[in-house]
Amino acid sequence: MQHWQKVSQTKPKLLLVDDQRVNILVLHELFREACEVFMATSGEQALQLCRTVSPDLVLLDVCMDGLDGHEVCRRLKADPQTHDIPIIFVTAKGDEADEVHGLELGAVDFIVKPINPIIVKARVNTHLTLKRQSDTLRSFGLLDGLTGVANRRRFDEALALSWRQCRREQRSLAVIMIDVDYFKRYNDHYGHLQGDSCLQAVAKALSDVIKRPHDLLARYGGEEFACVLPNTPLSDAVQIAERMQANVEALSLEHLGSEIGKIVTVSLGVAAITAHHAIEPQALVEEADRQLYRAKQAGRARVCSGTLAASLPSE
Ligand code: GH3
Ligand code: MG
Ligand code: MG
Repeated sequence: MQHWQKVSQTKPKLLLVDDQRVNILVLHELFREACEVFMATSGEQALQLCRTVSPDLVLLDVCMDGLDGHEVCRRLKADPQTHDIPIIFVTAKGDEADEVHGLELGAVDFIVKPINPIIVKARVNTHLTLKRQSDTLRSFGLLDGLTGVANRRRFDEALALSWRQCRREQRSLAVIMIDVDYFKRYNDHYGHLQGDSCLQAVAKALSDVIKRPHDLLARYGGEEFACVLPNTPLSDAVQIAERMQANVEALSLEHLGSEIGKIVTVSLGVAAITAHHAIEPQALVEEADRQLYRAKQAGRARVCSGTLAASLPSE
């Protein structure tokens, strides 16, 4: 029995899309026991099936007559009803430009033809497990629907938990507040839909920076994100914030309405404290917010930091 079947009794739904029937049959043979398999031989059919059966994963051929795989992916990602469905591209060997382009379009992975059954099974297994996990978090109301990162509720829970742990161990806890610069003008200039895509790209650029299992990035609201970093002194948190700023700028997303370099940038406020009984974790968020305000005042696209004004009570 596959791992994902132990987690849930229902089989995951897998959609295979290829205009060559023989390719579909090979994949069907690999997955027909572990998954409920759906098949489409054109881009149009694939789009329709995605709307009607909501597959947990799509294996999508890139080269097809009519709508090609890239166009199918673009449309799935643009539709709120289908944008959470993970897509793995199946590409002909050597098409590196195709692969890069596919990942930029929002695919989670790619597989090279002719397929190697062991590799395909491993990748499909991994992505079905991830899909199951994010479905679970979403069903508990802990994920942000637009960006897929944690939501405000999960942030508040993580902050409270990290606060208690750091207080017990007398460790430093850090919070970073992040706000997209001139985002109202971005929406005004490029439209709300592209504003949404921008927030998705920013969320990914920010979350790529955090690596430790208890670090958490959340969408705090609107175009604002927040990050909680247990066991992290201020100097380390500042370095992480600077990496986040650099990662967002490296996206080079055009923003003609911005006063800063005509690309999308973020301002960040960082605060840290050794948690103790005398103050509430919310004070840490408020200090990070004050530092964010300072970063905005000082010209945006920068990191400001400070220790919490209420210092440890004297012993
Ligand atoms: P500043 O540099 O001072 O942060 O300016 P700003 O324009 O980014 O800040 P402001 O708070 O004035 O505007 C935030 C904008 O973010 C306004 C709102 O329309 C937009 N926004 C909030 N949530 C979303 C969302 O989910 N999608 C999109 N597209 N826009 C959003
Ligand atoms: Mg803003
Ligand atoms: Mg804001």
